[in-house]
Amino acid sequence: MTAELRVVATPIGNLGDLTPRAQQALATADLVLCEDTRHSGALLHHLGLKKPLWSLHAHNETARIDSVLQALAEGQAIALVSDAGTPCLSDPGAELVAAVRHAGYPVTSLPGPFAAAVALAAAGMTPVPFAFWGFLAKKSGERQRQLQARLLPGPEGPMSHAFYVPGRDVPELLADLQAVAPAARVCVARELTKIHEGFLLGTPAEVAAQLRPEHERGEAVLLVEIRAKPAGSDKWIEAELLEKIEQARKEGQRAKQAVADLAAASGWSRNDVYARWVASDAE
Ligand code: SAM
Repeated sequence: MTAELRVVATPIGNLGDLTPRAQQALATADLVLCEDTRHSGALLHHLGLKKPLWSLHAHNETARIDSVLQALAEGQAIALVSDAGTPCLSDPGAELVAAVRHAGYPVTSLPGPFAAAVALAAAGMTPVPFAFWGFLAKKSGERQRQLQARLLPGPEGPMSHAFYVPGRDVPELLADLQAVAPAARVCVARELTKIHEGFLLGTPAEVAAQLRPEHERGEAVLLVEIRAKPAGSDKWIEAELLEKIEQARKEGQRAKQAVADLAAASGWSRNDVYARWVASDAE
């Protein structure tokens, strides 16, 4: 018996992408940890395998650690999979891996699909350096703030940024990109490795114009290539300005001083700040 944790990448849509090593790692595991026991049960069934399955997802990962360490102490070989792709990358598992390493057990990684890398390899954009950011915030204001803070060129030139996005949210994300980095090159890589795989390329506005209702189904990776710091990228987004106006009002600041301070800090003109100050009083 060999106590070890095997982090096993699984397909992101095409079963042909399950490597022979991944199959072997699953076939010889004593126990499989997975996000959804029904989903991974079907994968094991497809491989003709029957294994004890323990759920490990965002809401129980911390609580699972002790029982996993106990199973390792008993000498079990444990495989960790997620619903799709590489565990730990925008998926559960990183906390467990750290705990298993801390406890001194071996951890091995069985490579396979990682949607961001699959997209980047075929997009024709700067592949190195690239930054992987996973999912963005759900609210548009917060999302634009995140984009503004993250979408930078590399230290020596162009750099690509990869985001995960459910297909239905692609239009909203493109609108945010239009506001934050209108000149960027964008690639929406959809349904990778599946029958309806597709790539939409262009500026945020050009890609938005290519979108069709069917593009909102399924899953997508959104790549953004930044060549230079977008002009005006130090300017606050409107949501941030409105938030600060509300805060200044709550603090009882006087209009003239607050407008002058906010204009200086935000990159917005005094007239624009003043117009929003007045409008915020009417709400
Ligand atoms: N750990 C996975 C990986 O290695 O890529 C990612 C899991 S994350 C919960 C799911 C997100 O990955 C989706 O919302 C989508 O953004 C992206 N994704 C997964 N499969 C995809 C596919 N076949 N085509 C495009 N994007 C995909």
